[in-house]
Amino acid sequence: MAFDYDDTNIFARILRGEIPNDTVAENDHALAFRDIAPKTPVHVLVIPKGAYVSFDDFAANASDAEIAGFMRLCAEVCAKEGVGLDGGNAGFRGITNAGPDGVQEVPHFHLHIMGGRPMGPMLNLRD
Ligand code: 5GP
Repeated sequence: MAFDYDDTNIFARILRGEIPNDTVAENDHALAFRDIAPKTPVHVLVIPKGAYVSFDDFAANASDAEIAGFMRLCAEVCAKEGVGLDGGNAGFRGITNAGPDGVQEVPHFHLHIMGGRPMGPMLNLRD
């Protein structure tokens, strides 16, 4: 199997209810909760409930219903947190890290929705 999912990762444990989370929104296919170490005033993680390692795993292998559920929850979070462009808010940045080069810490696909302040340049590479 090309995408090797480790079900001991911290987000799998959150989904199983073994670890608490600060839920922002939820539907049948996805869960959104606040990052434990927020880097911006709004910092919400949106994760699918299915076992997908990364964005490319999810994009390739999730069902249409899972993809729709995930995307709709992202929209709900943007609106709820006051960063979505609907209503004239100032916007946000969506980030997903994948693998070692992407510096992905938790190997369960997640989208960071970050905002509440200007986000600065897209990348600030150290090396
Ligand atoms: P990554 O580097 O994988 O894209 O981001 C992982 C994110 O998960 C980090 O921003 C980190 O602060 C967050 N995180 C790690 N462990 C937990 C946890 O137990 N609960 C929550 N809510 N966030 C976590």
